[in-house]
Amino acid sequence: MLVIGGGASGSAAAFHLAQAGHQVTLLEKEAKGTIKPCGGGMSAAVQEWFPFDLQPVVDEVIKKVEFTWCLQDQVVAELPGSAPFWIVRREKLDAYLANHAVNAGAEILSPFTVVKVKKQKSCWQVTSQEGEELEGRAIVVADGSSSPWAQAFDLGPKNLHKASTTSVRIKGEGLLTKNTARFEFGLVHHGFAWAFPIAGGVNVGVGTFIGKNSADTHDILKKLLPNLGFDSSAGKRQHASLNVWNGHYPLHGEGIVAVGDAASLCDPFLAEGLRPALLSGCEAATNLDRWLRRETSDLQGYSQAIRARWGNSMSWGRRIAQVFYRFPKVGYQLGIKRPTAPQRIAEILSGRMGYGDIANRVIKRLLFNR
Ligand SMILES: Cc1cc2nc3c(=O)[nH]c(=O)nc-3n(C[C@H](O)[C@H](O)[C@H](O)COP(=O)(O)OP(=O)(O)OC[C@H]3O[C@@H](n4cnc5c(N)ncnc54)[C@H](O)[C@@H]3O)c2cc1C
Repeated sequence: MLVIGGGASGSAAAFHLAQAGHQVTLLEKEAKGTIKPCGGGMSAAVQEWFPFDLQPVVDEVIKKVEFTWCLQDQVVAELPGSAPFWIVRREKLDAYLANHAVNAGAEILSPFTVVKVKKQKSCWQVTSQEGEELEGRAIVVADGSSSPWAQAFDLGPKNLHKASTTSVRIKGEGLLTKNTARFEFGLVHHGFAWAFPIAGGVNVGVGTFIGKNSADTHDILKKLLPNLGFDSSAGKRQHASLNVWNGHYPLHGEGIVAVGDAASLCDPFLAEGLRPALLSGCEAATNLDRWLRRETSDLQGYSQAIRARWGNSMSWGRRIAQVFYRFPKVGYQLGIKRPTAPQRIAEILSGRMGYGDIANRVIKRLLFNR
């Protein structure tokens, strides 16, 4: 079994496959410790997919979410104690999951950059930049949003929908309230900015979800950072584009599956990508295990499970995003500022609710109450 990419999705898949007794090799191009751009917000509900405790990599437990429009007009939502929202450092989470995969028997090769993937009769062959060749009966494509393999093997959307992001990690707490995550809507055209506390610092970022990156992120951060109590030029900026969910498509082929960002699973409204990355890693492992044991003749069960457990909610999330980000001011007034709305968003972020549960009401309100 070969897994390309040691991020959250690949490491989760590698852990579950190794634990099920398969011989797994996890291939990761980056050396350990590289800072990975990510807000790090993640529902604690992901814990149920792992038999070990995830708390060691949780930097903060979020109890409140604050929303602003152009740094004003604040709305605050208390998160229900039963559904916490965690902040993690992605590089720590990825390494922690990968270590658990190794403890369960997986092998990691890093740095190992896959440059070629080929089907050879009944097995898959990958080649590294250095020319090393490896073979496996099955392959997990988990190399993130810039994956060339997902499209090459017809896994996921034909047309990719890309969100543009800029993120910056800053030392110190600034003016952020303890255990509070912040979302700012008005400053960003077709998107939002966030500030999530981590131990000893803050992850700040800007994301746009419709059209080409129209946001002047430099300008936005110049306004946002002083409002958060930091110098306007603080931190090192990282730019990344992110595949967001763009329709129901098969995510499997003969002995191959795509997971996480490589499968374009990221939420098109709030850019939540860690939960679907972990979910798809676990589902991929379950279905590959059955297929490798010849209990099933194909991997269709994987695509079906992701559609039922994630895609159906995202198809509503995409409709909400299309309306909300076209009329963001109306969206903020009629959506976020409604007394019940922040609670709903909090419940979506914590995984207790899907977009389908709220979509019809929200879309009608945004389209007709303007
Ligand atoms: C700025 C930003 C903020 C975000 N904030 C949040 C948030 O707050 N909450 C949330 O839930 N999600 C967030 N996301 C989304 C989330 O980070 C991703 O959805 C998640 O990391 C996807 O995990 P993954 O394992 O699928 O992909 P990745 O984390 O991208 O992992 C892919 C791995 O594959 C490796 N790789 C790539 N190419 C190769 C190759 N050729 N050979 C070998 N290895 C390779 C990479 O080095 C990487 O380690 C954010 C994303 C960005 C960009």
